[in-house]
Amino acid sequence: MVARRKLLGASIAAAGTGLIAVPAAAYELDNPPEPRLALTRLMSGNKRWVRGEPLHRDPAADRRRRVAGGQHPFAVVFSCIDSRVPPEYVFDQDLGDLFVVRTAGQALDPLITGCVEYGPAHGTPLVFVLGHTGCGAVRATIEYLEDGLRPPGQLDRVVAAITPAYQMAKNSFHQSLSRDERIDATVAAQVQLTVTALRADPVIAGSGAMVTGGRYSLTTGVVGQVQA
Ligand SMILES: [Zn+2]
Repeated sequence: MVARRKLLGASIAAAGTGLIAVPAAAYELDNPPEPRLALTRLMSGNKRWVRGEPLHRDPAADRRRRVAGGQHPFAVVFSCIDSRVPPEYVFDQDLGDLFVVRTAGQALDPLITGCVEYGPAHGTPLVFVLGHTGCGAVRATIEYLEDGLRPPGQLDRVVAAITPAYQMAKNSFHQSLSRDERIDATVAAQVQLTVTALRADPVIAGSGAMVTGGRYSLTTGVVGQVQA
């Protein structure tokens, strides 16, 4: 409540300087919520994205000034680098709301784990692992494992990091599954394995943060939760 009162004060101060004042509730810059509420906030944002009804935003320059002095993101989103899946868009969030960590196919290694740990180590209550349909990194992995197409340069590290997810998903493959369906099944497995790995991380586990994940549909915009 203290944080919200401060924001309200800031809004009034902004009005006094001729800047546009907006309701304090629009900012949502309170202290981080409980994990369950953080998840609700994230998924509510995705519903707005799907409906095409984003929250009313304060002017970007005003928001930028408000968060310049400190940040209290309510979630870490660990997602793919795909240009069609920017977390701030698909969860309809603003400056200061999310820590975002992105790698191809949300492949994890110790450096990336450290980046994900940063949020929970500083009080962020939620880590959300976000895969997506039609993932190019997962496609490259399957093309290597099924067709022998070796990716160039360091991309083979991405393929190696995603290979365990393919091997896990392969157990559920049957003859009739198309390549695209095998990709999407591997994406779900990749999310499951990543959630499991991050839950076992001592820093994240010790923080009490919730770790969960989902798969984004490029066509509908919906983030469907993946059980792990
Ligand atoms: Zn991807």
